[in-house]
Amino acid sequence: MTAMRGDDVASSSPNGPLWPPDRWISPTVLRNYDMCPHRVRLAYIDAVPEPPGFNLFLSKGRIAHNLLQYSARRISHGQPVHDDGKFLEMAIQRLPPREFPSPAERHAHALEIVRWVRYGLDYLDRNAEYLAIERGNNRPLNVVPGLEPYGLRARPDLILLRTAADGERYVEFVDFKTGKPRDNDLVPVVTRYVSRAMLRRYVPDPTAPRMQFTFLWLDPREAQVIDLSVDFCETVWESATEAIRNLAAEREWAARPSILCRYCPYNDNACTAWQRSAQESGGVTAL
Ligand code: SF4
Repeated sequence: MTAMRGDDVASSSPNGPLWPPDRWISPTVLRNYDMCPHRVRLAYIDAVPEPPGFNLFLSKGRIAHNLLQYSARRISHGQPVHDDGKFLEMAIQRLPPREFPSPAERHAHALEIVRWVRYGLDYLDRNAEYLAIERGNNRPLNVVPGLEPYGLRARPDLILLRTAADGERYVEFVDFKTGKPRDNDLVPVVTRYVSRAMLRRYVPDPTAPRMQFTFLWLDPREAQVIDLSVDFCETVWESATEAIRNLAAEREWAARPSILCRYCPYNDNACTAWQRSAQESGGVTAL
C-alpha cells in the first residue's frame, strides 16, 4: 500500500515523524498509543528492538494460544482433540527448563496452561464452521480528507459460523485472553469492520447475519460476549476513527509514564521517562 501525505499535516507539528502510511493500524497499536505515544514511536517507527528476556506470563499465554489454535485446526478437520495428558506433555516441552528453579515448578505452570486450554476447548462449538483460524484481515479506511486511506488490520483467534438452537446462522469472533477480564470495545468493532471481504466468501451479504465477539478469559473461565449490533458498532466507531485521526496527525510522540511502565519492553532500553518523572516529582522510581 502506498500513500502520499499532505504537507499541511507534516508542517503543522514539526517535532517528529508521522505514522508510516504503509504500516497497518491495529487495535493493539491504538491501545498502546492511548497508553503511551512514545512507546508506539519506539516500537513501530524507530523499530527499537525489544530487550531479550523470558517473560513467564507472556510465554504461558503464547503456549496456550498455540495449543488452542492447533486444536481448533483438528476440530475443523473433524479430528479429535488431545487429552489433558498429551497437552501437559506438549506444554512442558515448550517451557524452557532453565527458566524454572525446579522441575516441580515447571510442571505446575504447565498444568495451569492445560487448565486454560481445556476451558477454551470446552467452550468451542464442535458443530460450527471454522471460517478462519488466526488469520489477519485488512481493510482500508479513509479518515483524513485529502490523504490516501490508512490500512486497518485485526487478527481474531477464530471466526466461526454457528447455528443457534432455533436455526439462526450467526458469526462469532473468538479471542482467547490470558489476563484479567477488562472491557475492550475497539477490538470487536475493528474486527467486524475488517472482516467484511473475508465473510463475503461464506455468506452472501456479510452485513446480514447477527455477529458476536467473544473474549474468552481462560484463567477466570469467563466468556465475555459482545453483541456487534449496528448501533453498538456505530457508537464505538466514532471514537475509533478519532483515535486513528489523532495517530495520523501525531508528531510529538510524548511519553506518558504510568505504573504500567514497568511492563514496557523499553524500560531498560530507550525510554527513561518514568525515572525522569519520578525525579521531577521527588518520588522514588519504581523501576
Ligand atoms: S517506559 Fe513508560 S513512558 Fe517510556 S515508552 Fe515505555 S510506557 Fe512510555
